[in-house]
Amino acid sequence: MATATRAPTNLRRRLEEVVGAEHVRTDAGALLTYGTDATPLERGEPDAVVLPAATEEVAGVLRIADELRVPVIARGSGTNLSAGTVPHRGGIVLVLTRMNRIREISAADLVAVCEPGVRTIELAQAAAAEGLLFPPDPGSHTTATVGGNVAECSGGLRALKYGVTRDYVLGVEAVLPGGEVIRSGGRLVKDVAGYDLRRLLCGSEGTLAVMTELTLRLLPAPEASGTGMAYFEDLGDAARAVSRVLASGVLPVTLEFLDRVCIDAVEGYSQIGLDRSAGALLIFGQDGDPGAIERDMARMAQACEAEGATEVRIAGSEAEAADVLAARRAVLPALSRLEPLTILEDATVPRSRIAEMVARIQEIAEREGLMIGTFGHAGDGNLHPTVVLDAGDTAAVERAHAAFDEIFAIAIEMGGSITGEHGVGLVKLRHLERQLGAGQLALLRRIKHAFDPNGILNPGKLGS
Ligand SMILES: Cc1cc2nc3c(=O)[nH]c(=O)nc-3n(C[C@H](O)[C@H](O)[C@H](O)COP(=O)(O)OP(=O)(O)OC[C@H]3O[C@@H](n4cnc5c(N)ncnc54)[C@H](O)[C@@H]3O)c2cc1C
Repeated sequence: MATATRAPTNLRRRLEEVVGAEHVRTDAGALLTYGTDATPLERGEPDAVVLPAATEEVAGVLRIADELRVPVIARGSGTNLSAGTVPHRGGIVLVLTRMNRIREISAADLVAVCEPGVRTIELAQAAAAEGLLFPPDPGSHTTATVGGNVAECSGGLRALKYGVTRDYVLGVEAVLPGGEVIRSGGRLVKDVAGYDLRRLLCGSEGTLAVMTELTLRLLPAPEASGTGMAYFEDLGDAARAVSRVLASGVLPVTLEFLDRVCIDAVEGYSQIGLDRSAGALLIFGQDGDPGAIERDMARMAQACEAEGATEVRIAGSEAEAADVLAARRAVLPALSRLEPLTILEDATVPRSRIAEMVARIQEIAEREGLMIGTFGHAGDGNLHPTVVLDAGDTAAVERAHAAFDEIFAIAIEMGGSITGEHGVGLVKLRHLERQLGAGQLALLRRIKHAFDPNGILNPGKLGS
C-alpha cells in the first residue's frame, strides 16, 4: 500500500480555499493541542488542523489530501485512550466538532439524525426531552462526540442490557479519501441490501472513511430505575455473585465492580462513605417498569447475599442512586490523583473468568512492584486494569508496559480481547496480530486498501 508522506508547502493555501482561512490552524498552540489525545505518553505533530463545517468541506479536504498523499486524522473530542487521534506521521487533524447539529429526533421512527460532532450527552438529552433513550453512555459522555463513539464502537455502563454503540447505528453518511460521499443504511430497522458497510465503519477508528452524518436508533425511555451496591470480602465472591445474578433470569442495566485499590482511591477522593475494608464492591441496577425493577433488585440483592456479600444496600432515593453511580464514575479521576501518570487499559475476558483474570492482574502487580487498580463492567467481562506511577520513573514505566503485555497475553489465552471498547489505535496495534492471527490481519489490510488505496486515513493505526 502507498504510504502518505509529510505535507507539501502549498497545503495550507489549498485547505483555506475549502474551509476558509480561519478554519485552518497552523499556529504552535493548535499543533501542540492537537498533537495528543487522552492517551498518556503518546504525542505527534500535525502539519495543519482543519475544522470543516459541512460534508462538502470534508470531501474537499479529503480530495486534496488524497491527491497530495497527506495523512488525515479524523477527530471528535480526542478523549480516546488508544492514541487513535495522535498524528504520529504528521498530516491534517480533521476536527469535526463544528459539525454539531442534531438534525432530527423522530418519535415516530424512533431515530435521531445528527452530525458527528454532537456530544453524546447532548444527543441523550435531546432524546430524553422527547421521552426517548439513546443508551450508549461512555464515561466520557459529557465530552466525547457521537462520531467518536461510532468510530470506536464505544460501550459504557449500560452495555450489558442495551449493547454498545454499534447496536444503535442504523445509517451512516461518510466521505471516502477521494472525496466520494457514500451512504449506508438509513432509518430502516430491516435492510439487508449489500454488505453492511455501516457496521464495518463502527469501530473503524478513522481508518476507512470520515463519517459526516449518523442515523441512530432510539428506544422509549424506561419509566424508572433502581440502583444498589454490595460489598464482598474478596473479588472471587463478587465474581460468583455476577454469575448468580445473570443465571437468576435478570438482565441488569448495570453490573459494575471495583477492587480494593479502587474502593480506597474513590473514598479518599470523594468521601462518600465507602467501606475501605472491603475487598470488592459490586454496583447493580435495573430500569424499566417499577414492578419489574422491585422484583429484579430483590433478586440481585439475594444473589449477592447468597455469595457471601458482607453488606447489601438498595438506594432509597434518586440522590442516593446518583451517589452510588458517581462512585463508579469517579474511579479514573480518583486513581489519577494518586500519581502523576495513569495508564488505563481495557482487557476483556469471558465474564465467567473475571475473578481469575483479576487474580492474575494482582499477581503481576505484586511481582512488578506496581500499583494496579482494577474496575470495570463486570457483566460484560470488560476490565480496566489501571496502573498509577511516577512518569519520571522510567524503569517503572517499562515494567508497566511489560505488565500490560502479559495481561493482554493472558486475556487472549482466556478467549478474551486486547480491547473491549477503547480501540486498537496506535498503542495496541502490536498486540492485534496475536489476537487475530496473520491471515485475518492481512484481510483487514485488504479491506483498508479497498477504502483507502493511498493509505491517507489515520495511517499506522488499525488495519494499516
Ligand atoms: C474519562 C474517560 C472515560 C471514558 N469512558 C469510556 C467508556 O465508558 N466506554 C468507552 O467505550 N470509552 C470510554 N472512553 C474512551 C473515549 O471517550 C471513547 O472512545 C469516545 O467514544 C471517543 O470519542 P471522541 O469524540 O473523543 O473521539 P476521538 O478521541 O476524537 O476519536 C476516536 C477515534 O474515532 C475516530 N473518529 C472520530 N470522529 C470520526 C468521524 N467523524 N469519522 C471517522 N472517524 C472518526 C478518530 O480518528 C479516532 O480513531 C473514556 C475516555 C475517558 C477520557
